[in-house]
Amino acid sequence: MSTKAPTIGVVSLGCPKALVDSERIITRLRSEGYSLSATYEGADLVVVNTCGFLDSAKAESLDAIGEAIAENGKVIVTGCLGKEESLIRAAHPKVLEITGPHQYEAVVGAVHTHLPQLHDPKIDLVPEGGYRLTPRHYAYLKISEGCNNRCTFCIIPSIRGDLVSRPANAVLKEAESLVKAGVKELLVISQDTSAYGVDVKYAESKWKDRMVRAKFYDLCKELGELGAWVRLHYVYPYPHVDEVVGLMAEGKILPYLDIPFQHASPNVLKAMRRPANQDKVLDRIKKWRDICPDLTIRSSFIVGFPGETEDDFETLLDFIEEAEIDRAGVFKYENVEGAPSRDLPDHVDQDDVNDRYDRFMEVQTTLAHARLQSMIGKTVDGICDGWDEDAEAYAFRTKADAPEIDGVTYVDSDDEIAEGTITQLEILGGEGHEMVGALVEK
Ligand code: SF4
Repeated sequence: MSTKAPTIGVVSLGCPKALVDSERIITRLRSEGYSLSATYEGADLVVVNTCGFLDSAKAESLDAIGEAIAENGKVIVTGCLGKEESLIRAAHPKVLEITGPHQYEAVVGAVHTHLPQLHDPKIDLVPEGGYRLTPRHYAYLKISEGCNNRCTFCIIPSIRGDLVSRPANAVLKEAESLVKAGVKELLVISQDTSAYGVDVKYAESKWKDRMVRAKFYDLCKELGELGAWVRLHYVYPYPHVDEVVGLMAEGKILPYLDIPFQHASPNVLKAMRRPANQDKVLDRIKKWRDICPDLTIRSSFIVGFPGETEDDFETLLDFIEEAEIDRAGVFKYENVEGAPSRDLPDHVDQDDVNDRYDRFMEVQTTLAHARLQSMIGKTVDGICDGWDEDAEAYAFRTKADAPEIDGVTYVDSDDEIAEGTITQLEILGGEGHEMVGALVEK
């Protein structure tokens, strides 16, 4: 009998939430003695974790499955697109098994069936904090699955179901072991972070010597005690976010909020069925900036949603200027299959969508430029993401920059700087989303 450990490859597509799912699958399989391969040739079987959020993401997932079949032959599919088994089977009949999102047990079971594990799992091979696909110094921390909202452009609730919050002590235990394993920055994610605990009526659980409620504020406060940067993603402008901004002002968690506003015109927001009362959003943002003047707000927006008029679009442009949205991503509306918005009247002509997208980008670029200019000469904390070959400099991020989606500050240094080093930088200049800084001598 062969003693070589069975080897799996994992292709992970989609959002950070899907990435966390892949990490869990890998952690579980690795703990059972499976080896990992970064190549198709080196793997006995490949797991493809798919994304099904947009039609373009579906196409990318189907391509990835086809490539894995061509290069390896033994393929198990999981993730959001797994809900659409017939679509996958029609395109790729040779796929061994298909499971949906968060079906860890089912994925692992499918791997056992098609690639049996060795008798003696080498549990001690798993590092503290589990296996992660992110660099060693930052990690995504998923606090809940699913979503209770029903935004008309989104099919996530139909794929992932209603909100299911993890117990506070389970989240904190994972966060603590990540920090012990060297993580310096925790990126809190879910579909609706500020709704954390609503489904379990904010149930308490025991953490250390105290009881902690599964509540947005309570969790943030405890996470803020772990000694790492804590960054919040996918927050909605509910009133109770105010008290969390207070924690930011106290320096407990990063002064950063990722709020996917998606639009600002009441007509469009209504048609989108967005959560949280958006009427007083400008007042709320002003209040947050009063509480915490360093606050950075990142957001994403959709242009060309069905029924969006020129007036609605102008309202959106005014909003990003008035609210001083620091970082704005924009997407052209996509007519996602299965999304209720497909059936809405007055779809916007594609030329108008493209035109609005370009105009949004123009305003956004002007705002980003002004923001960057205001940073020049300031001293800020930065975290090192390592050496950047192309820039021939160390890449840092400030507290205002999340990994992958925001800006970078390049720093020249003759001394080696380890990934995850947090130090002070003086901002010297820059352009677009890239700044140039210098280490501040201590
Ligand atoms: S909040 Fe809306 S867009 Fe986000 S996952 Fe829930 S339904 Fe989808």
